Amino acid sequence: MEKLELLYEGKAKKLYRTDNPDILWVEYLNQATALNGVKKDAIQGKGQLNNQITSRIFDELNKNNIPNHFQEILSETEQLIKKVDIIPLEVVVRNVAAGSFSKRLAIPEGTPLNFPILEFYFKEDALDDPMINDDHVLVLDIATQEEIDQIKTIAFAVNKALLNLFKNIGIQLIDFKIEVGRTEDGILLADEISPDTCRLWDIDSGEHLDKDIYRRDLGDLVPVYQEVLDRLEKISQ
Ligand code: UDP
Repeated sequence: MEKLELLYEGKAKKLYRTDNPDILWVEYLNQATALNGVKKDAIQGKGQLNNQITSRIFDELNKNNIPNHFQEILSETEQLIKKVDIIPLEVVVRNVAAGSFSKRLAIPEGTPLNFPILEFYFKEDALDDPMINDDHVLVLDIATQEEIDQIKTIAFAVNKALLNLFKNIGIQLIDFKIEVGRTEDGILLADEISPDTCRLWDIDSGEHLDKDIYRRDLGDLVPVYQEVLDRLEKISQ
């Protein structure tokens, strides 16, 4: 596979074309951002941690037959993915109250929810990614009803698989965000799944093992992400 020109540079990743029109080459960057890009820092070692964590998570989702874009890991910071047309939605699943949910509804962080819930956010920087409902998704022509149903099925299947995976390594999955894309073969899970996109709390200590370390200035993110990778590596050996 040949790495060709740069197609897109996001907040934490670069996407390159390859000699196969259906496959893209991703490079994970040493970049952390929060608050829609307002807070931004270079963090040595973060790119390789997220690339390796997300690759292991996608391996696990493959075992659970969840349709996704992941092809293979190439190096510490690079992987190959299937090209998809990203649907401009951030799909959040929550098991426990935290973050914006806790703030908006005055429900203390750590309160378990009676069942997993799903929220859609419209990915539109200029609007600050507002939360929207199914009717908004339809009326704005973001996705069809059939696609909404497929997206929800994928999101809850990811939740089930990840709850299990993280429980096995002593981590409680509080919530996470996924993105999905269209291909000729239907909707695929896309983007990354890492401590940047999940809230992960140590089951014993309650310690944050995710990007809240950075968002809330709680300390150094690198050893925490390394801990998540070490635990994932231990169970896949
Ligand atoms: N999340 C994300 N990207 C975003 C917003 C949220 O990956 O742009 C993830 C976040 O890491 C958490 C979940 O989605 O695991 C729910 O985030 P929340 O709505 O509570 O927002 P926050 O408190 O991070 O602003």
